[in-house]
Amino acid sequence: MEGEAQEGPLKICRHCSVASRTEAEDCPACGKPYRRQFRWKIWLAVVIIVAAFFVGFGVRKLLQNDDSNDFAGTITLEQGAAVALGDSRSEVIESLDGQDPVLEEDRAQEGGEAGQDAPIESSAQTCLYYPIVGDPDAVWEFCFQDDVLVSSSSLEG
Ligand SMILES: [Zn+2]
Repeated sequence: MEGEAQEGPLKICRHCSVASRTEAEDCPACGKPYRRQFRWKIWLAVVIIVAAFFVGFGVRKLLQNDDSNDFAGTITLEQGAAVALGDSRSEVIESLDGQDPVLEEDRAQEGGEAGQDAPIESSAQTCLYYPIVGDPDAVWEFCFQDDVLVSSSSLEG
């Protein structure tokens, strides 16, 4: 009988400071739990901080990508080769991820060849130039005539 109350580990209640030998989770003196209940709040805070960190990182990453697009306008050789002759200018730009060219140039077409009747309308071409990724000396030239892509080629600088 007398040993029964002595069983269990000695626990000191944080709330009422009464020491009891008990297996119970709650203090027999005041009824409050021995275990700290705010442990989960620490974990919640850690999760929130980690989540906030990754969200912030993601946003920064997005902003960095935006910045690089501002001065890029570069295409890959594959992108350049994938553009089909006959496309309109807007179709070409769309297939290049909507990037604007670094240079746009109106090129006067040379007059009709000797012996041929020169066309009355002067047919000028507009050429768009895109630097090629990984090859700083090369540009891709897209030339349009009447909004139709008539030539597409890479130029080595
Ligand atoms: Zn207590």
